Amino acid sequence: MSDAESGGDPHDARNEETVESDEFEPVQVFPESEEMDLRPGSDDCYKCSTCDSVCPVAEVDDEFPGPKFQGPEQWRLKRKDDRDIDDSVMSCSNCMRCDSSCPSDVPLSQMHNTARGQFVQEQMEKLSQEYLRNRILANYRFFAELGSKVPRLTNFLMGNVVVQSVNEKLLGITSEREFPEFADETFREWWTNRGGAKIESDEKRVAYFHGCYSNYNTPEVGKSLVRLFEYFGYEVLVPPQKCSGTPMFANGMLADARRAAETNVSEFAAAIEEGADVIASCTSCSMSLRQEYPELFDFEGTASVAAQTYEAVEYLRLHEDLAAELERAEVEDADFAYHAPCHARNQGLAGQAVEMMDLLGGASAEDVGESCSGISGTYGWKAEKYDTSMEIGAEMFDHMEDAEAETGMTECPTCAMQMEHGTGYEIRHPLEVMAEALVE
Ligand code: SF4
Ligand code: SF4
Repeated sequence: MSDAESGGDPHDARNEETVESDEFEPVQVFPESEEMDLRPGSDDCYKCSTCDSVCPVAEVDDEFPGPKFQGPEQWRLKRKDDRDIDDSVMSCSNCMRCDSSCPSDVPLSQMHNTARGQFVQEQMEKLSQEYLRNRILANYRFFAELGSKVPRLTNFLMGNVVVQSVNEKLLGITSEREFPEFADETFREWWTNRGGAKIESDEKRVAYFHGCYSNYNTPEVGKSLVRLFEYFGYEVLVPPQKCSGTPMFANGMLADARRAAETNVSEFAAAIEEGADVIASCTSCSMSLRQEYPELFDFEGTASVAAQTYEAVEYLRLHEDLAAELERAEVEDADFAYHAPCHARNQGLAGQAVEMMDLLGGASAEDVGESCSGISGTYGWKAEKYDTSMEIGAEMFDHMEDAEAETGMTECPTCAMQMEHGTGYEIRHPLEVMAEALVE
């Protein structure tokens, strides 16, 4: 039995229900309607306020009405009277903590994403600074593709204080944060230069969804994933792909998300047809393919992509004896302060990195608690949200500093940015440490 088999199915129960059927249908209570209508779904809410109690934004921002209002209450109001979406929906960071907390399975994330999309499309001024800034942040991949053509020049410009100050004044992008550097060679360039997969196998095949950050900024994470999966005998496919859509959902850019998702579903459904399962190194990317796509889109193949997507370490725990391999291996001085990203929690993956690190000789990982890191992708990059983002992250920073480690660990690239920003620690991905221990 693999080491994860006895730990219960890590797929979210509601997601499983949604994606298991071949004849996938999004939640659509009025079948004759072309628009997704979530208003009757709000009747499942019995106002217990559990969702409000876990919302990190509501905890520090008295003006934010919380997930119960953003979801079921807003839809109830709309049922009575077709009123506008409340603009506070733009203050939800899309951390999705409320989503997994609801005892009544109210589809909060789907309600928030739908409301945000409607607000942006119908009520947000398209020439406003907020719209332009959010569109830029949501489409990071487009700008990263350009910037990574001349990485040194881009890094120089984006690290310049004058450019940062202009960014803040003109676009509302905070100048408090250090812009992430672009790698000299992207993951995809490395993949092409090495000649693609080193192993061919009909039995063990995975398709890697690397996402934007592992491609443009931290290709070492993608390289570690490839080496680790090849170590276990897998043929790795790297299909063409776009952004997972996570920053687009968070900014209500649903048309952009739909375009990206259509390509991703088509490419990864084709890889599944070739016998591959889908793996991701970023927990927000795996969340997006598993939960947000089937909640919001109905392209052919959406259900099979959602059902066959896994976070990479989760996949190895399910299919290989990763624990035994790590127990036999050793690394030097590898103590980590580990933060579980909110989107990892949603997928039931909060404990696995600590468990795996504790098996590895010379390594240890201390969980720095359940709090949200506060950056939530693009949220903490918005000038007006920066202070809130840092206030949310304060608990995590304190726990990191109290931990017996001076290196951080997480699976989410933006949580990593926040951890580094708040403590100055170097941050590593579990895949990098495992590849170092087993392969290099
Ligand atoms: S946790 Fe669920 S049932 Fe409780 S208030 Fe929130 S949406 Fe309603
Ligand atoms: S997604 Fe996060 S920030 Fe948004 S309402 Fe839910 S808990 Fe609050």
